[in-house]
Amino acid sequence: MDIVVGTRNAHKILELERILGPAVPGLTLVPAPGPSPIEDGETFSANALIKARAAFEDSGLPSIADDSGLVVDALDGAPGIHSARYSGTGIDEENTALVLSQMVGHTNRRARFVCAAALVHSGGEVVLERSWEGSLAYSPSGSGGFGYDPIFVPEGDSRTASELSDEEKDALSHRGQAFRALAEHLLALG
Ligand code: IMP
Repeated sequence: MDIVVGTRNAHKILELERILGPAVPGLTLVPAPGPSPIEDGETFSANALIKARAAFEDSGLPSIADDSGLVVDALDGAPGIHSARYSGTGIDEENTALVLSQMVGHTNRRARFVCAAALVHSGGEVVLERSWEGSLAYSPSGSGGFGYDPIFVPEGDSRTASELSDEEKDALSHRGQAFRALAEHLLALG
């Protein structure tokens, strides 16, 4: 089954292949053929749907997309839907440095990753949101993953998400949870 993916983020595509591969036998993920749409939604779910709808309109095939980010309680939910370009540059190290600098003086370091996973096909649309609770480290550590992984310490662990194996991250992560839940809708497409 060919499913189009409405994202240009190579790390995300890798994670989606790892997560969906075992859940949906015979699945092939195909990059969206058209340009990236403007993500002007105000929620993760709205933006995930914008990307999945654009991929479906351009390909005519069942299309999935995610919108995800880091939500920090002490920063009133920032970086939130602006996570990818929070520092203005889109460079992971600059985004994490900005969040850590904004956290100076805050004792509440609670944060979560949120992922909205969307599926758009000729029979309708589905969007699901899942989160991964944790807290912010005081400095980056680890070399795995991407984005804010080096400063995110999942609840119940003392390592950052960057220090987890791929399998450990997928089992717990916001993206793992959301796309495993979406898998039953992909399976129903036959
Ligand atoms: P999107 O492509 O608009 O969904 O942007 C998502 C951004 O949120 C990424 O560029 C990262 O900065 C951050 N993010 C989302 N998921 C993760 C994750 O699993 N680990 C680390 N950062 C993430």
